[in-house]
This record gives sequence, C-alpha cells and structure tokens, in this order.
Amino acid sequence: MTERRTLALIAHDAKKDEMVAFAKQHESKLADYKLFATGTTGGRIQDACPSLDVERMKSGPLGGDQQIGAMIAERALDGLFFFVDPLSPMPHDVDVKALMRLALVYDIPMALNRSTADIILRSARLAGLSTSSQTPEISSQ
Ligand code: PGA
Repeated sequence: MTERRTLALIAHDAKKDEMVAFAKQHESKLADYKLFATGTTGGRIQDACPSLDVERMKSGPLGGDQQIGAMIAERALDGLFFFVDPLSPMPHDVDVKALMRLALVYDIPMALNRSTADIILRSARLAGLSTSSQTPEISSQ
C-alpha cells in the first residue's frame, strides 16, 4: 500500500475565492491527498468541499505559514499550493518569504498561482515531482 500524499493549501484573502473555485474544480483529485491548510483558507475549502480531508493549522498571520514551513522541514509535505496576493502588503510578509524559501530548500513542488497549481495537479502525482529526497546539505562556510 502506498502512503497517502500530503499537500498544503494556502490563499491570501484576495485569492481565497480563487482557491475555493480551484478546490471545487479538482475536488476528486484533491481527495487523493491528505490536505493541510492555514486556518481561514482551510475553513473555506472545507465548507465548499465537505468530502475533502483538510487539517487546519493556525491562521497565516498567527503562525500558520510557519507551521506549514516546519512540516516541509520535517519532510511531511509533498507539495505546496500557495495562492499569493502580489498587490497587498502583508503583516506576515517575512513568514510568507520563509515558507517559500523552505519549499525551495527542500525542493518540493510549489505553485504560487492557480494556473501552475492546475498544471501540477493534472500532470502528475506530486510524489514523483520532487527530485531530492535527501535533507539538503548546508555548507559550513
Ligand atoms: P489564512 O492564512 O488562510 O488563515 O487567511 C493565509 C495567509 O494569509 O497566509
């Protein structure tokens, strides 16, 4: 039996309607994954798609992005779909950057907008997309 894949879903306020529409569009595919989401995003998705298994973390500005980042560092996430609002200043901008940085460090598939998330979800199971399964080496310089 293969282990169930994990996927994190986050959307900034201006992108939450888009995330809900995306989740409804792909509900049957997303049902293959154990989903994690920041608080408000997760609540919106769960209301719109009751069939999905969504575990909600704290709201983003209250540490939810960092909780998801910690999951990436623990190798507990296979992918991150983060619909970012590029037009509004965020009080938790540093957390957003830190989360993206960890997704890069650990080379997990990361979509920052709907069209990329769409391609990733249609093209392959996330498990096969990350090329590095090892913890990255940090040079000691
Ligand atoms: P939220 O957090 O889903 O709780 O709104 C998302 C974010 O702003 O990072």
